[in-house]
Amino acid sequence: MRLYCPGLPGSGNVQIGAEEFEYAKNVLRAKPGDKIALFDGKGREASGVIASISRKDLSVRIGETLDSRKEPALKILFLPAVLKGQKMDFVIQKATELGVARMRPLITGRTQVGETRKLARWRKIAIEAARQCGRSFVPEVDEPVSLSRYFTEDNFTENMGAGMNGAGVLFWEGGGAGLKELFLSGRLKSSGAERISVAVGPEGGFSAEEVSLAAQKGFHTASLGPRILRAETAAVLAVGLVQFLMGDMG
Ligand code: SAH
Repeated sequence: MRLYCPGLPGSGNVQIGAEEFEYAKNVLRAKPGDKIALFDGKGREASGVIASISRKDLSVRIGETLDSRKEPALKILFLPAVLKGQKMDFVIQKATELGVARMRPLITGRTQVGETRKLARWRKIAIEAARQCGRSFVPEVDEPVSLSRYFTEDNFTENMGAGMNGAGVLFWEGGGAGLKELFLSGRLKSSGAERISVAVGPEGGFSAEEVSLAAQKGFHTASLGPRILRAETAAVLAVGLVQFLMGDMG
């Protein structure tokens, strides 16, 4: 049993916030004396025992700090184009399970959704996914940003991992090198890469202009093979394969 507890203190008792309270009480059916783990979303985790539960509050007595080694050395900055409704929820959930460090949703020329103010919902999904998969770090989900703006932002170079052996890869069904080929040829800086940006397009794909803008900005264009995948399939696969080739999977 794990509960999210931002600002987790080092010792003493802590009150559990409203949403986690509902989850602990109604889903986990937690009772006083139950052993649980608390994680703060920033990488810290501690054991605890449920001290009391009332109709409105749940208090946990904090035990020892736990060493949870679930974070890959490779920091994946995931740039998924915003997808419609539940598809985006799915992508945020899976990317969290697969260990991305941060997510920056992109609004592209062919993004099919007008409503992109789903940030609070996406953040909640990331917390729930981290809770379920054992991460004590919750990847941040940033405000969606337009693709052209993203590539011209002041901190673009920093995001790309300047000085950290960083690289970027944009997945495109219209061509580009196979991901494995990019990796094996060393173009993705396979050994010791600390940061990689991974961009996947919306239902309608990236436009040729968007692909070439990314390429000008140093992104490799990569293929996931001859079949055109749905955007949500491609997003999950792209992150999984990058984690497999360069991160801590497999
Ligand atoms: N433009 C296409 C479909 C886009 S697929 C059409 O409408 O027919 C959605 C996204 O998934 C793409 O932008 C790309 O990032 C990724 N994708 C899907 N299949 C891919 C493949 N075979 N190789 C690389 N990326 C792929």
